[in-house]
Amino acid sequence: MKEKCSKRTAAVVLAAGSGKRMGSSTKKQYMLMKEKPIVYYSLLAFQNSFVDEIVLVVSPGDVGYCRKEIVGKYGFSKVSSIVEGGKERYHSVAIGLESISSCDYVFIHDGARPMLTKEILERAFASVSTCDACVVGMPVKDTIKIADGEGYIASTPKRNLVWMVQTPQVFSFSLIRDAYQSLLEREQELLQQGITVTDDAMVVETLTGHPVKLVEGSYENIKITTPEDLVIAENFLKEN
Ligand code: C5P
Repeated sequence: MKEKCSKRTAAVVLAAGSGKRMGSSTKKQYMLMKEKPIVYYSLLAFQNSFVDEIVLVVSPGDVGYCRKEIVGKYGFSKVSSIVEGGKERYHSVAIGLESISSCDYVFIHDGARPMLTKEILERAFASVSTCDACVVGMPVKDTIKIADGEGYIASTPKRNLVWMVQTPQVFSFSLIRDAYQSLLEREQELLQQGITVTDDAMVVETLTGHPVKLVEGSYENIKITTPEDLVIAENFLKEN
């Protein structure tokens, strides 16, 4: 805990997705779970944690709504800025990072993962303090197959080496800021090579080569993507 006091930490909470796969007219981040919008739960976890500052990234046009109906209404005093995100998740992350003036470590988290806990945040913080780059995840339970693009199996990776990766993904601020800067500079080149960035670890892996540690998250730390995920998360909330 002493260490936490001396290091400044920030969180970028991403809520600028369109959530099309939910098939609802309400954006997924604002859909209600136990009478609160989904994004409320991630903000609450950071608000009640050792994290010093939260940057909330929302869809274009939603800043006023979020300031009043989420940040103001629930008293999330650690939210220092609410900014409009970009087309892809990585654009939103880059915009969020630009809004942080300075910190030692940054937690990048999907606002669509409401089951974030104090334990996960503490494990991730302990890890990033020693290795500068870590992502929360869990070993897979199912056997995973790599497909060949024609609908056939190309290979079967060893199950004990396969993890499903979640958020938060946590980095030293200078490492992730520089990695995202390089990503934006080389975006067209990477797109031409068919490289699609789907998480923050990939930005660090691809653009810097810095090792990224895997940290135990939780099987409950699911991302709400389709309607059945909402039912599952609501049940987890009831249990807790
Ligand atoms: O679309 P997906 O569920 O993978 O998005 C993961 C997270 O990234 C969500 O919390 C979503 O709101 C956020 N996102 C974003 N900006 C985008 C796309 C997604 O902030 N352009």
